[in-house]
Order: sequence, then C-alpha cells, then structure tokens
Amino acid sequence: MLPEDVESDLSRVLYSEAEIKDKLRELARQIEADYEGRDLLLIAVLKGAVMVMADLARELHRDVEIDFMAVSSYGASTHSSGVVRIVKDLDIDLAGRNVLIVEDIIDSGLTLDWLRHNLQSRNPASLEICALLRKPTAAKVDIDAKYLGFDIPNEFVVGYGLDYAERYRNLRSIGILAPHVYS
Ligand code: 5GP
Ligand code: MG
Ligand code: MG
Repeated sequence: MLPEDVESDLSRVLYSEAEIKDKLRELARQIEADYEGRDLLLIAVLKGAVMVMADLARELHRDVEIDFMAVSSYGASTHSSGVVRIVKDLDIDLAGRNVLIVEDIIDSGLTLDWLRHNLQSRNPASLEICALLRKPTAAKVDIDAKYLGFDIPNEFVVGYGLDYAERYRNLRSIGILAPHVYS
C-alpha cells in the first residue's frame, strides 16, 4: 500500500485512496445538485489542496472553472500562525461568480477565515467552502464548511497533498505522521 521508504513514518493510515475517492464522489453529487443551472468556480490554495482540487474537479460531471492562489504562513512548522501573505493571487475576477473554496484541511481555521474574508471582499455572487478534512480544533473559529469530507482526530496528518517539510504530498492515502519524524 504505502511506499516502503515511508511506511515507518506513519503511525496509522486514516483514509485509503479508495475511501478518499468515494467521499469526493459523494461531495461532488451534492455540489452538482446545489449548483445546477449556475456557473461554478473552484478555488484552491496551493499546495496542499492540489490533489483534492484535481480529483473533486474530475468527479464533477459539469463545466467548472478552476483557479489557484498561493499564500504563505511562514515556515515548515506543524502549527498554523494565521499570519497570511498572498504570494500568487487569482487570475480570475470573482465579481458575480459562484465561488467554491476547495481545501485540504481545516485545523485552527485561521487560514480559511482569512481567505473567506479576502474573497468575500471581491463581491462573488456566492461563496462556499469544501474541505476534505477537519480537526476538532476548528471549532474555535466559526468556519462553516458546507461540504465536508471527514472529521479527524487532533493529530498531524500527511499525504494526499498534505506535507511535512514538503514531503509526503504524493502519498495516495492520508495518515498520521509518526512523532519520531518531527520530534
Ligand atoms: P489552519 O489555518 O486551519 O490552522 O491550517 C492551515 C494550514 O495548515 C492547512 O491548510 C494545512 O496546510 C496546514 N495544516 C493544518 N493541519 C495540518 C496537518 O495535520 N497536516 C498537515 N500536513 N498540514 C496541516
Ligand atoms: Mg490548505
Ligand atoms: Mg504544509
């Protein structure tokens, strides 16, 4: 399942490739129904959400536009600072558009809270959030993710786009990073 050289770096696999695919398919059906007859623009923040974006977009049996933004929250730490700087802005004008933010994970929610306010100020017709994962700590900030994949334990996870110091993004499954890797 896992590549041999990373097997001992994960203490546990949380979701397999097949489980992730099934969940994204389920979310895609909801999104298709909710946006029927309306345009849809998917926006993801690099780099963590690239896998979710690629797979969710292809599960949607309809026309969508996609765009990416790059933000920086400083360093390779395992905790979010909430201090966000735009490194690459969107190419597409959001005014009057139905925008769906596609996210990998909501932890403290600080990044998404910042992003939601930033995008809202560009006057989209609508703005919703789709996140594959959410941690219990997310409850501290009020992030209303209309489309949510899995609620996960409060552990540092990697794989399927999620990194630790830029590694593990290309794992097909999502797992808990073993503490010996970062301590
Ligand atoms: P938040 O602002 O909600 O605390 O999280 C912001 C970012 O921190 C996420 O988009 C993600 O890039 C990173 N992050 C939060 N929790 C985890 C985690 O468990 N694993 C990894 N790899 N990144 C995380
Ligand atoms: Mg993210
Ligand atoms: Mg990261």
